[in-house]
Amino acid sequence: MQEPRSAGAMGADFPYTLKTMCYIEVFADGSVHWGGDDNTYHRALTGTSRLFAVWPGEWSSHLFAIDDLDQYARAFRIIHDEARTGLTDHEHQVRWSVSPHEQKPTASYISINLWLDCGCTIRDLETFASQMRQQKGWHIATSGGWGSSEDSTGRTYSMRARRKSLAT
Ligand SMILES: [Zn+2]
Repeated sequence: MQEPRSAGAMGADFPYTLKTMCYIEVFADGSVHWGGDDNTYHRALTGTSRLFAVWPGEWSSHLFAIDDLDQYARAFRIIHDEARTGLTDHEHQVRWSVSPHEQKPTASYISINLWLDCGCTIRDLETFASQMRQQKGWHIATSGGWGSSEDSTGRTYSMRARRKSLAT
């Protein structure tokens, strides 16, 4: 018999959002549920349930206690994490232009180059996309590729966005 390991001890290295991670909630009355939902964080935080996760490995799987709910919430973007995302929770100062490589500049989604003058860096495109949706109404594609390059003028990001959302 073994005790569950501590996910909190691994800090941000615990892969909370791994698709094959199996979350298990143990309720005070002894009932057990798995899979989690939108209220899992709140229930664990208030002590309504205790949260565990099975991290499957190739040869063996391990049971972890999700004992750092702050890390859990940051990983699932329930609370904003500046270190993880590179993004301050503020109004970004953004410049953009249509990518010179875009061959269909009138298509509904276009490639753009983008610069952040506020000092933020983009490590998590989904968080940046949701911030820009709230701040400017932009629709940045999060399913495709994105990237960045750096030269003497700073860091240039490339991503795809819905053209008409940029115009507003
Ligand atoms: Zn910023």
